[in-house]
Amino acid sequence: MMAAAHEVSVGAFEFKLEAGSFTIAEPHGKLTLDASLASLTWFKTGGLAELLFEPASVEALNQFLRDLPSWVPVMALGLGSNLIVRDGGVPGVVVRLGKAFAQVTRDDAGTLDCGGGASGILVSSTARDNGIAGLEFLRSIPGTVGGFVRMNGGAYGSEVKDILVDCDVVLRDGELVTLPAAELRYSYRHSELPDGAIVVSARFRGRPGEPAAIHAEMDRIAASREASQPLRSKTGGSTFKNPDGHKAWELVDKAGCRGLTLGGAQVSEKHTNFLINTGAATSTEIEALGDEVRRRVREQSGVELEWEIQRVGRR
Ligand SMILES: Cc1cc2nc3c(=O)[nH]c(=O)nc-3n(C[C@H](O)[C@H](O)[C@H](O)COP(=O)(O)OP(=O)(O)OC[C@H]3O[C@@H](n4cnc5c(N)ncnc54)[C@H](O)[C@@H]3O)c2cc1C
Repeated sequence: MMAAAHEVSVGAFEFKLEAGSFTIAEPHGKLTLDASLASLTWFKTGGLAELLFEPASVEALNQFLRDLPSWVPVMALGLGSNLIVRDGGVPGVVVRLGKAFAQVTRDDAGTLDCGGGASGILVSSTARDNGIAGLEFLRSIPGTVGGFVRMNGGAYGSEVKDILVDCDVVLRDGELVTLPAAELRYSYRHSELPDGAIVVSARFRGRPGEPAAIHAEMDRIAASREASQPLRSKTGGSTFKNPDGHKAWELVDKAGCRGLTLGGAQVSEKHTNFLINTGAATSTEIEALGDEVRRRVREQSGVELEWEIQRVGRR
């Protein structure tokens, strides 16, 4: 079934989704029915979101989630750089934070106040311009602040848990709360952010530094990335978490999976912990290739690889 909407009274719309119908006031922002998510993810694969909501402001998001019946599932989407959206699409609402959430400012305490939709490049370059060191690693992670906070994004020996002071989150019921970093109970590429919660802003702390030295470190990181990862491919970043005492890419390589293909999906020749869409892959093929790699690694080394890439939606 396709999603549908019609106006039932001035400014109020009835939405028909597969799981049921509801009526809400027209939200402030952009609401798209049956929105393609393939164009919004790095893999460029996957199905439709029943509803895609791009709120105009935090208040618009509060109000929308308050009005939305609790049975409608809600998921946040950043740059889709760590995501397989399955081919059957995502039921319910996908929330994407646009320009209104992409600002980064320095506050008096020398921390950066970052919108949930701001990119790693914008955060790290604003930190540099303000003489704040320690955030250079975000230069190399192609996501948004919301995705970094949820995933505990990290690289080059630093991760979000080292720099996060606190974040503002709109919970599934529409309530806006501030969560200190400790409440997210961070571990490797994992947080305990509540389900359906949307990170709308975060404060990151660094240490005083010289802009020229920070710039040089960002350049070093960017060059090292370019040399080791398939950055220009349709990919989802690191596919599997590094198991304790192992590097995922080495286990994949030892299991003979470098370059392995399944349909249009391939294990990258350049970095074996990256899967790529060589052109016409489906999400089903990408996920099946990942599971085949896990099977071969288990057989070869006895280690169970755990997915780092988030897989969402219906098969
Ligand atoms: C080439 C490449 C290199 C990469 N290198 C690294 C690396 O070095 N280190 C690393 O940690 N990751 C890396 N990644 C993975 C990815 O960039 C990170 O996981 C990033 O944090 C994802 O951010 P995103 O905004 O794109 O989130 P998405 O991929 O869109 O979503 C990922 C998860 O975050 C949630 N989410 C997104 N936005 C919000 C929000 N506003 N509020 C709440 N939840 C949200 C989503 O629901 C989903 O569960 C790489 C990816 C690529 C493609």
